[in-house]
Amino acid sequence: MPLSLAASHTLPLFPEAVQRSLRQLPVIGAQSDITYYSTHARSILNDTRATGMAYWSINPYIGCAFGCAYCYARYAHRYVMERASAADRLVDDTAVEVERIPPWLAFERHIFVKRNAADILARTLRFGSDKHLALLKGESIVIGTATDPYQPAERHFKVTRSILEVLAEHPGLRIVIITKSALITRDIDVLSRIARISELTVHLSLITLDRALARRIEPRAPTPEARVRALARLRETGIDAGINCMPVLPGITDNPSDLEALVKRVSEAGATYVGACALRLQHEARKRYLPFIEQEFPHLAGRYRATYSRGNHAGDRYRAGLARFFDMLCKRYGINSGSRSMRDDADDDPSMLEAATATVQLDLAFSTATT
Ligand code: SF4
Repeated sequence: MPLSLAASHTLPLFPEAVQRSLRQLPVIGAQSDITYYSTHARSILNDTRATGMAYWSINPYIGCAFGCAYCYARYAHRYVMERASAADRLVDDTAVEVERIPPWLAFERHIFVKRNAADILARTLRFGSDKHLALLKGESIVIGTATDPYQPAERHFKVTRSILEVLAEHPGLRIVIITKSALITRDIDVLSRIARISELTVHLSLITLDRALARRIEPRAPTPEARVRALARLRETGIDAGINCMPVLPGITDNPSDLEALVKRVSEAGATYVGACALRLQHEARKRYLPFIEQEFPHLAGRYRATYSRGNHAGDRYRAGLARFFDMLCKRYGINSGSRSMRDDADDDPSMLEAATATVQLDLAFSTATT
């Protein structure tokens, strides 16, 4: 669907509105039921203290139009919208909408575009800066931890590409990109430049080969086949690329023969690894996902509520069985289990891959393994 771009539709009609409009976030585009806002990020490279993880993260956008039912990143959007609303930076009709629609839906409908991301990153990574030196010691930058960097907005705003152009000027980094979109192949030229001077891995997310099922779960994401084609193109150009089969949805995408077909297919397309883990359901994601299950898969609703009432994770037996099953599949199709960066980290901390290196297949049936 074409995205209509506008310099701003917040331009004041009346002089007294001028002062207020200067503080408002400009709307820079609209697409069907999605609105895009320009926002100026104060920083773009989130360090390990901010992420709580062993890597640095970059998210060119806030919010994600792909709208996956299970998305765990929805919770972060709530605070962005609330902050903007409290600071009186949203136009009246948007502020009303913020009140009207639930935060999990705002995540898909109000997308913030960090248009100054490349400038900020260039300043942050100036040669010899503290962050630049820290990254040269081997810590990874992961692009796309909370929103997809190649969601539809990227086709027009090219923020992700501008970030990659900056990274292409800095040798010796470890960079990971996570996406569901074949749009990443548009940037093969700059990705190839990065791969020549740094360690680059692309993680394509793919949880099923079933197009109709994918459409129900990830309604606006590219088709599974488009992702497999993108994988093949990346591999043809020598870029390290594999598959994140994450999250595996209990009772929905965990049929063993379907998972085997997926691993077989992506190994034929040249994937360098397959990683997998079971669904984790945090607070905001739960508000979207459990009603979705009730509507789309009502026969699973009771079991989901029972399983995830005990915590954010599926049961231990289920997760261990899943890890063993994927490890067995990866061995069968001659493909690595877990990405290069995960395997390198596991060299330092073998417990990280413990779950992914067991060898005995357990029962994957949701009806028995989660109880
Ligand atoms: S593509 Fe990723 S960030 Fe976007 S909605 Fe899906 S899971 Fe969330």
